[in-house]
Amino acid sequence: MLIKVILHNSMDVKILEIIDLEIMYRVGRKSVIAVRDVSLAIEKREIRAVVGESGSGKSTLASAVLRVLPGNARIVRGSIMFDGVDLLKLPEREMRRIRGSRIGIIFQDPSATFNPVMRVGDHIAELLYVHRGTRWEEGLKVAESLVKRFGIPSERVYDYPHQLSGGMKQRFCIAMAIATNPELVIADEPTTALDVVTQMQVLSMLRELRDEYGTSIMFITHDLSLALSISDNVTVMYGGEIVEEAPSDDLRREPLHPYTQMLLECIPRLRQRLDFRRFEKESIELPSTRGCIFSNRCRYARERCLREEPPLIDLGGRRVRCWLYE
Ligand code: SF4
Repeated sequence: MLIKVILHNSMDVKILEIIDLEIMYRVGRKSVIAVRDVSLAIEKREIRAVVGESGSGKSTLASAVLRVLPGNARIVRGSIMFDGVDLLKLPEREMRRIRGSRIGIIFQDPSATFNPVMRVGDHIAELLYVHRGTRWEEGLKVAESLVKRFGIPSERVYDYPHQLSGGMKQRFCIAMAIATNPELVIADEPTTALDVVTQMQVLSMLRELRDEYGTSIMFITHDLSLALSISDNVTVMYGGEIVEEAPSDDLRREPLHPYTQMLLECIPRLRQRLDFRRFEKESIELPSTRGCIFSNRCRYARERCLREEPPLIDLGGRRVRCWLYE
């Protein structure tokens, strides 16, 4: 059995819709808001990058979609609609059926994905057995043909994880994530641990996945240049909130939010002399006032920014959370 090719209709149907999500962490006696007022939709066949630095809430968002949040996290409000069903209302048994089957996952650290005493191909065979009832031997054959597509000799499915390089493990992870032909793949910093050449291979595999199988991809990264190179649309997060959302080309050409502008300025260009002193004094502390969450780093901050929190302003085709665009 080879994975079935399903071409989804068009990019006008939502596969994932997150509505007004708020998530808190309990840290000691304090409650900390990790994700606030987040609404976003990913369409079928869309590659959506979610970009932000550490602490921006992007990985918490992915964990919430998969319902694998840590024990001290609590979803305060909101819903996560996957193909029309609210994942937050599903019993865990049904969620297990969706996770790994209709929603594939690629983690940052491929080593953590594998059981060290199982051959890598057995992981794919097990997935197919659990979710599709495929016989083990048949599952191994699927694994062979899948990894071959990704430039790995088919006999390597009989290797143990420690026998593979980091790049090869990550390619196996992608093969695992798509073995059940999921409608959505969540890739959480999938290239962070890889060298530049392998990074490019992984990106082109993800693009191929969308082009050939119609899979939607939520690509989570701290690297805006990577995000722009792979995605159709980008959502920029800061301090748990969406601060900007736009088609990737528009964002590259004309970033609106001061934070996005800063991120773009950090991408080195050929022949550009970099002046890192500009960023040395940057603080990632969030302001304690009720105003704009970015106010203590923003070069355009005004008095109003410290007092009032800007809403996410819809500019028709893109959104930005900044008083400059009121
Ligand atoms: Fe800067 Fe004010 Fe816009 Fe916030 S609202 S990003 S502080 S200009």
